Amino acid sequence: MRPIQMVDLKGQYAKIKGEVDQAILDVLETTAFINGKQVTDFSRNLSVYLGIDNVIPCANGTDALQIALMGLGLEPGDEVITPSFTFIATTEVVALLRLKPVFADVDPKTFCMDPASLEKQITNKTRAVVPVHLYGQSAPMKEIMDLADKYGLKVVEDNAQAIGSDYTYPDGKKYKTGTIGTVGTTSFFPSKNLGAYGDGGALFTRDNLLAENFRMIANHGQKKRYYHEIIGCNSRLDSIQAAILNIKLPLLDEYISKRRIAADFYDHAFAGHPKIRTPYRASYTRHVFHQYTLILEGADRNKLNEYLAAKNVPSMIYYPVPAHRQNMFASFQSGMQQLEVTDWLTERVISLPMHTELDTEQLGFICNSVLEFLN
Ligand SMILES: *Cc1c(COP(=O)(O)O)cnc(C)c1O
Repeated sequence: MRPIQMVDLKGQYAKIKGEVDQAILDVLETTAFINGKQVTDFSRNLSVYLGIDNVIPCANGTDALQIALMGLGLEPGDEVITPSFTFIATTEVVALLRLKPVFADVDPKTFCMDPASLEKQITNKTRAVVPVHLYGQSAPMKEIMDLADKYGLKVVEDNAQAIGSDYTYPDGKKYKTGTIGTVGTTSFFPSKNLGAYGDGGALFTRDNLLAENFRMIANHGQKKRYYHEIIGCNSRLDSIQAAILNIKLPLLDEYISKRRIAADFYDHAFAGHPKIRTPYRASYTRHVFHQYTLILEGADRNKLNEYLAAKNVPSMIYYPVPAHRQNMFASFQSGMQQLEVTDWLTERVISLPMHTELDTEQLGFICNSVLEFLN
């Protein structure tokens, strides 16, 4: 059996090595390392794939979130509601911009923002909400958009884990995740579903004026070189990363199917087990399984993690400390917030290997190892 990895980037690269190496060499030949043709091409390709006019590339997914919040015209002290059960970047940028992070609880089934908890956190200072499509499954966008309309909030969709997923409204209208809110953001960190071979990120919006604003912010607040209209930053996707992404974007749907096949295998092996809750699949979306995350009940997930490690099966806890309990937010007294589901999940989730290169022998070994431990 091939060694099992949490994410197998090497196996995936081996299949596209010829094209990728050539594309990198092409960039080296032109020496247009920054703002090369590959970057413009990729922005256009991604905009076609997502069905949205404006794609603004940037340096990473955290910058994408930061630029989104900078471009929305918020004032210091304005409240921004995010889940606490997420990667820290979602909420870190809120505090970095001197906005106030406020946390909503999540739904124990989808792991995504619970609209009822969101509504409870809304005050007259709330200006924006950042739903996260966690682990590759869309947040309940209709309910979130309805609340945003009702209270006049901007919506920033953190789509770093769910690019390629979609959301279907009850009337049947279907959109790619990240294209529903005021602005969507994503990350091309190597292990993401659409990963570069370094850092990268992007923002998407249907609003042309906002798009222009985001573009300026990502480029030192200038439209015309050396004429700086607003405070910005320096956040670029480089040409080599864009060249690689141009090769991988047409493969994204195939990559997603491979992840879903692995998820089906796990689901089948664990079905009905009294100590395992397999990932819930909401009917309004197609889960793209950035992570395959179980809830363990009546078993110690840290012991399972050690047991698997001894058999060379990696597993991970995403995330061991929720945002509202991180020391960085101590001054907001966020740890005092009652987020029962978030705290409950944080103690019970465990993620198994999930990537495009898992074969049935490996999947079988992983499942048997998990079941051996629990039985
Ligand atoms: C990865 C990730 C980010 C940040 O992306 P980077 O490219 O690493 O900066 C933001 N939000 C979520 C939910 C992520 O998973």
